[in-house]
Amino acid sequence: MYNVAVVKYEKPYESLKLAIDEAGGLGKISSSSKVFIKPNFVVWFKKTNFPKYGVITTARLIEDIVIILNEHGVRDITLAEGVAETEKNSESLLQLAVKGMGLDILTKRYGLKTIDVHKGNFAKATLGDVKLSVNSDIFEADYIIDMPVMKTHSQCMVSLGIKNLKGLLNIDSRKRCHNRDQGKNLDYHVAQFAAMLSPELTVIDGIYSLECGSTPAGDARRSDLIIVSNDMISADKVGAKLLGYAPESIPHISLAAKSKRRTADLSDISIKGNVDIYNAAKLHKYSRDRNKTDDMPLLFEEMGIKGIRLPAVDTTICTYCVLYLYCAMLGILMAKNRDKPFDDIEILYGKIQKPSGKNKHTLLLGQCQVKLNENSPMINHCVKIDGCPPQKEDFVRAYTTLGIELPDNPKEWMETVFGFFMGKYTGKPEFDETFYKI
Ligand code: SF4
Repeated sequence: MYNVAVVKYEKPYESLKLAIDEAGGLGKISSSSKVFIKPNFVVWFKKTNFPKYGVITTARLIEDIVIILNEHGVRDITLAEGVAETEKNSESLLQLAVKGMGLDILTKRYGLKTIDVHKGNFAKATLGDVKLSVNSDIFEADYIIDMPVMKTHSQCMVSLGIKNLKGLLNIDSRKRCHNRDQGKNLDYHVAQFAAMLSPELTVIDGIYSLECGSTPAGDARRSDLIIVSNDMISADKVGAKLLGYAPESIPHISLAAKSKRRTADLSDISIKGNVDIYNAAKLHKYSRDRNKTDDMPLLFEEMGIKGIRLPAVDTTICTYCVLYLYCAMLGILMAKNRDKPFDDIEILYGKIQKPSGKNKHTLLLGQCQVKLNENSPMINHCVKIDGCPPQKEDFVRAYTTLGIELPDNPKEWMETVFGFFMGKYTGKPEFDETFYKI
């Protein structure tokens, strides 16, 4: 049996300490161990405050784990992450995140080091028929701590310990995971991460959980849960259960368990801690509802949007294009002329979507779509946003061509647009930004 502790978050340090103790302790660690922490900093934005609830690992639990490691005499602690960057910045988004969350204080207090995966070296890992380039520093670790957030994911259903390891890949490998071949799709690739690394400790941060994740566009809840296990697949099985899903229904968890000749259900798990997981499990939807004709998200229809066809997200669009997709969607919702029907526009993205043949204009978002469909006879008027990832100026030009009137200073607007989602948490005391600041 595999131990998984589920503990109610009540107090800094004490709650995480209890969860680790209940899970069986830190295991084989000594004062000379070289420890790597992989948090989940999926995004960071340079020019705006954005809701971090359920999106990124709390500074609270990162500080707590560093203190616990320090108590064990561990001095060599490194935080490794590769935040998704769509353009080059003088300071990387990881550096900005570290400063923004005050994690640099842990450097002064405990000698915490930081590695930006994008700036490091990569080792080739062959996992069955999947070849990936993985941050090479992590292979020098004696002890890896995986610290995902308890959240759903529009493409993988849930994003927990296994999925969090994707942040250790180089950009080309990340893109390759979003394979167009549905026999070897994103789930198939993500499941291989369990063979790539076996973190000694998985800490799922469920202080805030996220519905319709995994970005700040999702809906966070205060869940006050911490899940800890010395076995990543077991932690993920319990995390999925708490998000309202039978773990065997999550393709990548099921595949990862099968590759280890294990069952994907909870029958090989011994639950520890002070939470009844069957009472605590709450369904978190992983994708937004669609309208009846499946032309657009239901929310668009409810807001009176007409003249747009926006197919549902599939697994082939990468995070880099997803960030543009959100700009595309918010551009429609915030367009100055959104009260009138748009001019019969379909927006295609990812690597497999095809034109309907019925729309007046087709916008192809990203290089993959341009290559796939630019010469399609099913397109009447083709507007392209090329690039991998696309560029802001091309996006603005395309929307102008299509008559979608973006807010003023559109490039500036795109850089701050995720701040828009802060509004839904304003005035709700359970959403406390101090969890993300040391
Ligand atoms: S164009 Fe977009 S979907 Fe295609 S590989 Fe690049 S980032 Fe991924």
